[in-house]
Amino acid sequence: MADIESHDYDVIVIGAGGAGLRAAIEARSHGLRTAVLCKSLFGKAHTVMAEGGIAAAMGNVNSGDNWQVHFRDTMRGGKFLNNWRMAELHATEAPQRVWELETYGALFDRTADGRISQRNFGGHEYPRLAHVGDRTGLELIRTLQQKVVSLQQADHAEHGDYEAGLRVFAEFAVTDLLLDGDHVAGTLGYWRESGRFVRLRAPAVVLATGGIGKSFKVTSNSWEYTGDGHALALRAGARLINMEFVQFHPTGMVWPPSVKGILVTESVRGDGGVLRDAAGRRFMFDYIPEVFKDSYADSPDEADRWYSDPDNNRRPPELLPRDEVARAINNEVKEGRGTPHGGVYLDVASRLTADEIMRRLPSMHHQFKELADVDITSERMEVGPTCHYVMGGVEVDPDTAASSVPGLFAAGEVAGGMHGSNRLGGNSLSDLLVFGKRAGAGAAEYLAALGGERPEVSEAAVTDAVNSALAPFEVTDARGQENPYSLHAELQQVMNRLVGIIRDGAEMCSALEQLAEIRQRAARLAVPEGNRQFNPGWHLALDLRNMLAVSECVASAALRRTESRGGHTRDDHPSMNPKWRGTLLGCELRDGSVEVTEHPQPPMREDLMRLFSPEELGKYFTEEELAVVRTPS
Ligand code: FAD
Repeated sequence: MADIESHDYDVIVIGAGGAGLRAAIEARSHGLRTAVLCKSLFGKAHTVMAEGGIAAAMGNVNSGDNWQVHFRDTMRGGKFLNNWRMAELHATEAPQRVWELETYGALFDRTADGRISQRNFGGHEYPRLAHVGDRTGLELIRTLQQKVVSLQQADHAEHGDYEAGLRVFAEFAVTDLLLDGDHVAGTLGYWRESGRFVRLRAPAVVLATGGIGKSFKVTSNSWEYTGDGHALALRAGARLINMEFVQFHPTGMVWPPSVKGILVTESVRGDGGVLRDAAGRRFMFDYIPEVFKDSYADSPDEADRWYSDPDNNRRPPELLPRDEVARAINNEVKEGRGTPHGGVYLDVASRLTADEIMRRLPSMHHQFKELADVDITSERMEVGPTCHYVMGGVEVDPDTAASSVPGLFAAGEVAGGMHGSNRLGGNSLSDLLVFGKRAGAGAAEYLAALGGERPEVSEAAVTDAVNSALAPFEVTDARGQENPYSLHAELQQVMNRLVGIIRDGAEMCSALEQLAEIRQRAARLAVPEGNRQFNPGWHLALDLRNMLAVSECVASAALRRTESRGGHTRDDHPSMNPKWRGTLLGCELRDGSVEVTEHPQPPMREDLMRLFSPEELGKYFTEEELAVVRTPS
């Protein structure tokens, strides 16, 4: 492998979404030579698709907001399974990260008195999402990219080379992490266009690869989201947590079939849109769970008054956390009250003027007009749940984003813990910025502690990784060959049907059996035709390894957790169980198979416990855990 293209860096960041770019900016700002690798075009990541906004308790629209309220909302949304330290750092640092974006050039929508405007979203007590119409992610990525360019210009001025401190490798897919013993030493990847391999050496690697949605048939995720970072971490020996928690966003498009799953932003509901069954009935009032009864309106009149007088009325139930709304829609359809295409109606046309809709939701108007020939200023949208986000990911140290593998860091959607069992809308964009920055700083700290020492990448490790990536070209016996497209379709069906929004033990056992069979067949995956030059069949064959590993984690952990909480709903175990609140399920690879183990959740610090009433905590915690708040401080 001596002739393989090779590069040396201090830090490699895999992923150029919000988390990856913020980590790279931080690493470069610490004077480290940094590479950013991304599977698709630079600028094309899920972050760019984010519509609603960035959650940060700036208190611009309601001065009652502060980090403690944001922390409380996040913990409630995650049903207290969140890593409390991550939720604390996130709530305290999100406003600084938003203001910092302004210094990079972001142009947020403004309030009448000129401050950054903030909008309502499900599960957030106050208007909290800083936004740019319904194109917030685009502005976030635009400004982070602009910052990258300005750093590159500074490097050019100093070194005569734009890429001296920060280089972007676009349309470049990483297939494996390279290790020296148990330490990270680099990555192996390939240029998607030519299929040529590249070895990158670096003592620190930050995973920022986003989600896993492409393992499910109906999803808001695009083609890149095949759980690569999750699988790379597993294969390198790291532990994933919370993998049973997959978020089904309540509102994806359901018609026409070619666009099924594409997201309909929660801002539609945040700005006044309501959900109705086929007969036009506003059904969410039937689905307010006991734990949220005190905070949500129980009549349409009160719910409607809340938009103009939030201090004296309770919130509309359409703004319950996503897991609750998704289950409600699922049930309406199951009970036969759904629309002709198997969804429910989302009605903003009868609630806002056409002008307001065009101003607040321009992308949604465009999306429905172009894709479904529906004019949302006068017609209702048809919507239903779609696989959207994975709460589970690499277990990290909250302060440094370090995983248990020395030199391996993770931030953004690929990291686990922050959102517990269910993420609140808007909390992802803030998560990316807060923990992206921390991961870059964590990598810098790690390098400083290493001193001059550098792990080595052995030739044998590179040869193994190359051979493994080329395996789909080696299956020559036509009778045994498996086609990556059909196997992918089967995997998606299994996950959607048997490990989807409502789960039960028998179905998940069946899913695991079917996944095991797909795994056996995947050993005979063959590239249907062509060579390594831009060959989508080969790309998918490589992605499938990752999707399979991640799907096995989701199904195995979901089978083990015998309760319902957040994004994990068991028909056979319908209630929450305090024993499980204190338990994290970890997934690791042992001899190539996924092993699930139970780990205690770190107990929450007393001052944070005291931000909640003992009555509220009593709904989630055991009496023993509550002793600390039952005594006066
Ligand atoms: P991403 O932005 O997903 O980027 C991942 C990067 O990793 C990409 O560059 C990809 O190419 C790269 N990558 C992946 N695998 C490899 C590999 N093997 N090799 C090299 N590169 C690789 N959240 C909010 O907070 N507010 C919202 O309003 C909102 N709206 C959303 C709307 C939609 C339609 C979707 C899909 C999500 C939305 N979310 C929202 C969620 C949020 O956008 C994502 O969770 C978040 O952007 C993930 O960011 P990230 O930086 O972790 O990864």
